[in-house]
Amino acid sequence: MASIFPIQIKSDRLKSILAGHPWIFSGALARRPDVQDGSLVKVLCGSQLLGIGYYNSRTDIAVRMLTPRDEAIDANFFAERFRLLRRRKEEWLPSRTNAYRAVFAESDGLPGLIVDKYDRTLVCQFHTLGMNNLKPLVVEGLVKAFGPNSVVERSDVAIRVMEGMDDKPVGILSGADVKEVEIEENGFKFLVHVIEGQKTGFFLDQRENRQALVRYAKGRTLANCFSYTGGFSVYAASVAKRVVSVDISKPATEYCRRNFRLNGHAVNEEDFLAQDVFDFLKEMQPGAFDMIILDPPSFAKNKKQLTNAIKAYTTINSKALEKLPDGGILVSSSCTSHVDQSIFIKILHQSSVNTRCTLKVLESREQPYDHPYHLSFPEGRYLKFFVLQKWAR
Ligand code: SAH
Repeated sequence: MASIFPIQIKSDRLKSILAGHPWIFSGALARRPDVQDGSLVKVLCGSQLLGIGYYNSRTDIAVRMLTPRDEAIDANFFAERFRLLRRRKEEWLPSRTNAYRAVFAESDGLPGLIVDKYDRTLVCQFHTLGMNNLKPLVVEGLVKAFGPNSVVERSDVAIRVMEGMDDKPVGILSGADVKEVEIEENGFKFLVHVIEGQKTGFFLDQRENRQALVRYAKGRTLANCFSYTGGFSVYAASVAKRVVSVDISKPATEYCRRNFRLNGHAVNEEDFLAQDVFDFLKEMQPGAFDMIILDPPSFAKNKKQLTNAIKAYTTINSKALEKLPDGGILVSSSCTSHVDQSIFIKILHQSSVNTRCTLKVLESREQPYDHPYHLSFPEGRYLKFFVLQKWAR
């Protein structure tokens, strides 16, 4: 590994790296290394080797760690990592499910890389310059470990600009030219557009929460707000009296309709609305729905947007509560990592205070095991999911 540039970190910053945190901030470097952004670096503290990572001078996070060992970063390195992740994750995969997150970036030891598996299609995102430079090795490793039908890239992510990349590539990296994949999740079927869908095409992180929701949806009249392609709606429609799906995206609403048909659910045209949820909630007749799901996109991409995010969450949760009848169910989720569990509970509480009701937590859930966070890296914890019941005072 003689060719990898060595960098020195300050000894008082050793603790967090030894604890397994994958980030080294620029302030922890003994001096600025003379190495190109995106290069592999060997991290040392004096003569002690801490591992190998990749470097970027443009971001506060100077180094993201790939391994604590001195080992070759080649296709086999990736193939071995992928095989282990595959084995461990498939062990817990629910029956009649063929889609899961194979690689969850830092939380799975591979900073900057997301890989979602949709049946035999793998969809990747390269978030960082360092991981982007390793793309050919990543693809080779994926092919070795998964034998996929196709490897697709969906690096149309805003974060690449901050890394110093000015392109957002989308396309086929290996194998067949796929656009749409049919997946099975807990026995339900979904069409996933891996090229034009949002993110990698589907929100796999709500899989277990969708399943958990079914018991509460029985016999209810339900409004699924921010429904995307109908993840929650399809599950709920198997037991609910009626399900109305609302999403601002027309193509998503169209997919929602198609997913209803695919699962043999009745399709009433007026139950699929391409509308802004803020307007929908404002216009909703009180008592029209006795169950409302709120699963909005992230409202804060950084800490500066936190205040606005809190406001937006409080608005939609208060509105929904105001319109629910006594005994109504509010399912409220947040994927904004800057809004942590305790802030989100405060938002829900404030919403119940605003609407003068009591809110009881029936169930509180997080992200599933294939989107893990490890305890040395709490930054990977992001998903909140509450099932609440409105009690009139
Ligand atoms: N619950 C979904 C995932 C929701 S993702 C699932 O389980 O698959 C968030 C969705 O909110 C996206 O589909 C996006 O199009 C939609 N969205 C964003 N802003 C919106 C708004 N103001 N009104 C309605 N939908 C919105």
